[in-house]
Amino acid sequence: MSQLFEQLVPYLEKHMALQTALALLDWDDATLAPKEAGEYTAKVIGILSEEDFLCLTNPQVKKILEDYESKTEETKEQEETEQAIIRKIKKNLRKTEAIPKEEKRAYAELKSKSQKAWQRAKKENDFSIFAPYLKEVIAYCKKFASYGATEKLNGYDVLLDDYEEDFSVEVLDVFFEKLKAGILPLLRKIQKKPQIEDSFLYQKYDIEKQKEFNRFLAEYIGFDLNRGVIAESEHPFTTAWHNHDVRITTHYYEENLAGAIFSTIHESGHAIYEQGIADRYTQTVLGEGASCGIHESQSRLMENMIGRSRAFWVPIYGKLVETFPEQLGEVSLDQFVAAINRVRADEIRTEADELTYCLHIMVRYELEKLMINGEVEVEELSRLWKEKYQEYLGVVPENDTVGILQDVHWSMGDIGYFPSYALGNAFAAQIYAKMKSEIDVEAELSKGNIGAVREFLHRYVHQYGAFKEAREILKEATGEEFNPDYFVGYLTEKYEKLYGIS
Ligand code: ZN
Repeated sequence: MSQLFEQLVPYLEKHMALQTALALLDWDDATLAPKEAGEYTAKVIGILSEEDFLCLTNPQVKKILEDYESKTEETKEQEETEQAIIRKIKKNLRKTEAIPKEEKRAYAELKSKSQKAWQRAKKENDFSIFAPYLKEVIAYCKKFASYGATEKLNGYDVLLDDYEEDFSVEVLDVFFEKLKAGILPLLRKIQKKPQIEDSFLYQKYDIEKQKEFNRFLAEYIGFDLNRGVIAESEHPFTTAWHNHDVRITTHYYEENLAGAIFSTIHESGHAIYEQGIADRYTQTVLGEGASCGIHESQSRLMENMIGRSRAFWVPIYGKLVETFPEQLGEVSLDQFVAAINRVRADEIRTEADELTYCLHIMVRYELEKLMINGEVEVEELSRLWKEKYQEYLGVVPENDTVGILQDVHWSMGDIGYFPSYALGNAFAAQIYAKMKSEIDVEAELSKGNIGAVREFLHRYVHQYGAFKEAREILKEATGEEFNPDYFVGYLTEKYEKLYGIS
């Protein structure tokens, strides 16, 4: 460790500890905290966040970063980890300081009000309750984007950069055009075919038995429960404070067997990534995923490419039938696998199948672009939403609750986040293609050896945490730059086969 970096360590450690405490409170809020705790806990969160801000923006920290800059060349070779940490801290600092403190506080207040308005609007099916808040959120996002503008980035690109570096509108426009050209004609053909029978997935499934099976499933995939926890929350998610404490949640539905199964597999995919980050990076700013999209690629690959494949279920479908003999006793493995892959173009993103998922993201991406470019009035959004759903998915949401009000993201100011979900799918397909060229995935899965998949992901992705950037990881794992053709190719091959389309 260089002497200069050593001076930085106490600040980094304090930052890490405060971030850990904040994440713990977040987790608690989503899982166990009583309803009335919110306002009181918010005070604690405010104080800890302020401490964290003061720690990172300490003049001493800035001085060390400046001094380090002049030493860069000497230390570059031997201290790659230091370099990566410094790069990340600098970026965080630039983002943190771009926004004046008073505006940040006002924005935090707005977001809290806007989330409440969104909840009420969704409940009462009335977009006009949320619209004035959304207008203000957009105004702030535009202003913050202008503060964060650089030579290369401005407008919506600045917001996108918060979630996925290097994936600007220029790249995303091409990406979504390719998806549109690949998915839409395929979906139209599927919609003309007889539908796959899947009603057996929606019988009554005892929740205690589901829990038992999902726990087995998480461990089967490789989630180490000595360093991890499974809990329940309204919306499943994963959080981690270091590689020895990674937590996932799932949500059980009595009348939907697949719901919990695929969120458990999805979140376990995220969790294995977090548990696999090397010790030298954990508890540093590099001890997290390389980007939102790369993180999502690991969960999607597990959920869809692995978890919905026939080979994955060969060794364990018997156990599922044993757990639910009344419901599944007469259902063959092939029927089960077809049912969990059924395409259902519907209005709800979180319930979307693998084929149509990205179309939901496309609607949001196109609307966000219009909002941030000032090309649409908030009042027009509900109508545009419906038109785009009609155009892409062939369904018109019955009302705003299941339409434009379905997602929490915009009320929280998370504009620019959605595209990383779609990118995750495409990254996953690209990585999966490479994996299949190195390993006989089907044969390994059929033998119950999912370790082969995990080792591949660990070797190319997990161990590095955020030490490498998303593009670098993708390039090193697959030997080429981002290429959405893999995803389109994967979907086409899979769904033509499933629906007998030639
Ligand atoms: Zn996810």
